Amino acid sequence: MQVKEELCVGCGRCVLYCPVQAISLSADRKLAVIDQDECVECGACLRSPACKTGALYQPELTWPRAVRSLLSDPLTIAPESGISGRGTEEMKTNDVTARFKRGYAGVAVEVGRPLLGARLRDVEKVAQAIARFGVEFEKINPTTSLMADPKTGKFKDDLLDEKVLSAIIEFAVPIEKLPDVLYTLERVSHEIDTIFTVDVCSRCNPDGSIPHEELLARGNWWYSINVKTNVGLGRPLAAE
Ligand code: SF4
Ligand code: SF4
Repeated sequence: MQVKEELCVGCGRCVLYCPVQAISLSADRKLAVIDQDECVECGACLRSPACKTGALYQPELTWPRAVRSLLSDPLTIAPESGISGRGTEEMKTNDVTARFKRGYAGVAVEVGRPLLGARLRDVEKVAQAIARFGVEFEKINPTTSLMADPKTGKFKDDLLDEKVLSAIIEFAVPIEKLPDVLYTLERVSHEIDTIFTVDVCSRCNPDGSIPHEELLARGNWWYSINVKTNVGLGRPLAAE
């Protein structure tokens, strides 16, 4: 995002709309200044009603900076999935897609949060730690498309310094491997300059119990059981 200096009146209204605090006022408080290294190109300031003079504008983004918008602006459509947002629709539509079969856990690691964001260098560290389990990263996912080698979780080198609001790493693992994956994530959380949350999804047993719940309790991980029911999406299309 950029500021047309001739239109900016230094009112400062845009400053509070930035989720990563990339906007500040110049020392003489006459102009808004956007830290281009910190700006994640989320578009929030431009979409907001803050600027009454039209001083904010979005120049065309080229590679590699364009990945900031891909993972940070909820209105940017990812070419891989054809949907906006950072992940796929898998977690929300597992009742239909049945991607996560019995005996497996679907996992999404959401790296970065408002205020902090995430450098892709840190997203790569998390992905590389997970890749050692031989998982296949979800193909229809914008984060996977940034990897030079999805087998190792290595990202394209020219992307590593790019900053995004957050990135979602998605994969499925045999459920018995889930504790080891979580211990590994716990270890790598101390090696990065941001935070992540972990979503785990598994198909309920016929008696209504949740297969991964006992594993989480045994490992003493804090968790919250959430359910998303998508009424009217249809029946599972894939065989059990
Ligand atoms: S595009 Fe987003 S990150 Fe960049 S200055 Fe505007 S609100 Fe902040
Ligand atoms: S809201 Fe517009 S005019 Fe006010 S400081 Fe921000 S860019 Fe400048």
